[in-house]
Amino acid sequence: MDIRTATAAALTDQEVLRLREDFPILQSEVNGHPLVYLDSGATSQRPFAVLDAEREFATTLNAAVHRGAHTLAAEATVAFEDARAALAEFIGADENEVVWTSNATEAVNLVAYSLSNASAGRGGPEADRLRLGPGDEIVTTEMEHHANLIPWQELAARTGATLRVVPLDDDGALRLDVAAELIGERTRLVAVTHVSNVLGVINPVEQLIAAAHAVGALVLLDACQSAPHLPLDVHALGVDFAVLSGHKMLGPTGIGALYGRRELLEIMPPFLTGGSMITTVTATEAEYLPPPQRFEAGTQRVSQAVALAAAVRYLQDVGMPRIAAHEAELGARLVAGLSAIDGVRVLGAGIDLPRVGLASFDIPGIHAHDVGQVLDDAGIAVRVGHHCAQPLHRRLGVTSSTRASTYLYTTGDEVDQVIDAVARTIDFFR
Ligand code: PLP
Repeated sequence: MDIRTATAAALTDQEVLRLREDFPILQSEVNGHPLVYLDSGATSQRPFAVLDAEREFATTLNAAVHRGAHTLAAEATVAFEDARAALAEFIGADENEVVWTSNATEAVNLVAYSLSNASAGRGGPEADRLRLGPGDEIVTTEMEHHANLIPWQELAARTGATLRVVPLDDDGALRLDVAAELIGERTRLVAVTHVSNVLGVINPVEQLIAAAHAVGALVLLDACQSAPHLPLDVHALGVDFAVLSGHKMLGPTGIGALYGRRELLEIMPPFLTGGSMITTVTATEAEYLPPPQRFEAGTQRVSQAVALAAAVRYLQDVGMPRIAAHEAELGARLVAGLSAIDGVRVLGAGIDLPRVGLASFDIPGIHAHDVGQVLDDAGIAVRVGHHCAQPLHRRLGVTSSTRASTYLYTTGDEVDQVIDAVARTIDFFR
């Protein structure tokens, strides 16, 4: 589904209140106030279905996968592979195109290190088309989370390739006109975020994907802030790679995933090496398993994968189009409410793009950490700082901001509470 033409009904207030009963932490108090959790962009909360799935695995199936001949090991392996299939279906991929990682950061690094290994001649002749060297270019953007920037800086340094950065306009939107000029014959990879973790805008990535593919470049999509909040179909989008983190989509920490187009994973040399990713090993050489196992060295995060599968089933039961519609409403309410407060500058407020339920703001003269402290005193959890996006903040002329981010369990009333609390914060400091 294209979120720009989405027509799904938003969740009703009653539905959200009912959903909230599934999240034990949302019933808690912080500093004497009911918790208002507006930090789901950093990490989301977990429903009983996810907590129970992890515990159930640990209490009934716990064993190492892909190894033992005993019953528990076989059942654990089935649960682990079923979890992979569930996540693949959720993102519109084939099962063998999903590689488990510990988080999105590791998934980006997996691709970057695999490409630099290919560039160093590892992977044999079939990996030749992945080689990067002087004269080749990697394109990323000024909007990226550091996880989708620094690995490319390092890859460029290791291979001699050049990193090109698509700039932002004064509002904070991607300069697509400049991107069209930057993406050319030398471009080998375009790495871009689907949804900004600071601005909450949904980027028109289709245009960048088309431009990249027109010159034969690969595309890596950072789906950390889209997979949890929007219907995502990596095959329909046509990206070559996509990365996500489980803890941002109702799952546990310690589990994330890389989507890689099958024919690319087939020719990519491994990143981490060791046990569980080989067929035969001699004292001097090793042959590797096909993907995805080739990229899953060492003992895997099995209970976390099983719990992440429970999370995606929960999201599917609620319905991603309805979650997206709910969060679009909350996002619009956040941006409008915060922008209406005298002295508040919502970053990216002028960008004319669809949004998720996330907004970051600056109050000139009041440090974001002070804002966060006052909100925390009222039981409202927000994120303060640069949100791992220093280039974006620098471009918009600030060093830090305060970010409120919603999820399917966020009520309109909570959004209003943070808006009121920000207005009170300004009164308090002035
Ligand atoms: N990309 C984006 C857009 C993010 O928001 C985040 C996390 O905040 C990441 C990447 C990195 O995720 P993780 O720290 O779970 O690897």
